[in-house]
Amino acid sequence: MADALLIFKPDSAYRLAARAGIWGWLASERDWKVESLDWFQPPADLIESHYDFLQGRPFFPWLVDFMTALPVVVGRVTASADALKQMRHDLGETQIARSRPGSLRERYGIFGGLNCLHLSDAAETGASEVKRWSEYVQLDQIKVDLDEKTQKQDHTYHLRSLATQVAGGIHVELASQLIRELVAEECELDGEKLDALWRITLGALS
Ligand code: ADP
Ligand code: MG
Repeated sequence: MADALLIFKPDSAYRLAARAGIWGWLASERDWKVESLDWFQPPADLIESHYDFLQGRPFFPWLVDFMTALPVVVGRVTASADALKQMRHDLGETQIARSRPGSLRERYGIFGGLNCLHLSDAAETGASEVKRWSEYVQLDQIKVDLDEKTQKQDHTYHLRSLATQVAGGIHVELASQLIRELVAEECELDGEKLDALWRITLGALS
């Protein structure tokens, strides 16, 4: 059995319909088992080492902000190597514009690398990611009770359309404000936390 690290990134930890949809898939435990889940706000040094292979890429500063701006839901799953491969298939491709129709990222991801969920891509990376993260957060207990249903609306496709406008330099102000309103409707956040979620959302569009 392989260990894999799982992270509900901020765009799925707080957008409740996205979170419920992804959790519904994860909790089905078809060929895998969720061993732990907890809220945790990763420090920058952890994210910089977790994503060290991306250092130097133009989106790297945004990626660090994205992953450190808010507490996220971190967990560990166990699965056979084949099951992990299947889970990554269900998840879909990294960039939203390329994510397979019907995959979790196509369904709930907004734009670019704003793609909802981290899941280790193979047994070897899973082992090293779990080792690294367990120095910061316990990965042996389920401490968070996520819902598979929510009354909150799911604005994913509207958000994607607006994000495409902002990224293309079209109606930037108007589209950015509407993104904020729609994200606020999807979440139960306000104040600084909502500001942070808006900032990292817009940051993915430049
Ligand atoms: P995955 O999460 O599918 O395993 P990678 O490990 O290649 O993808 O990249 C880690 C994360 O970095 C991605 O999930 C995404 O959030 C971000 N990222 C990777 N490539 C890009 C890109 N070209 N543009 C924007 N963000 C990216
Ligand atoms: Mg990866």
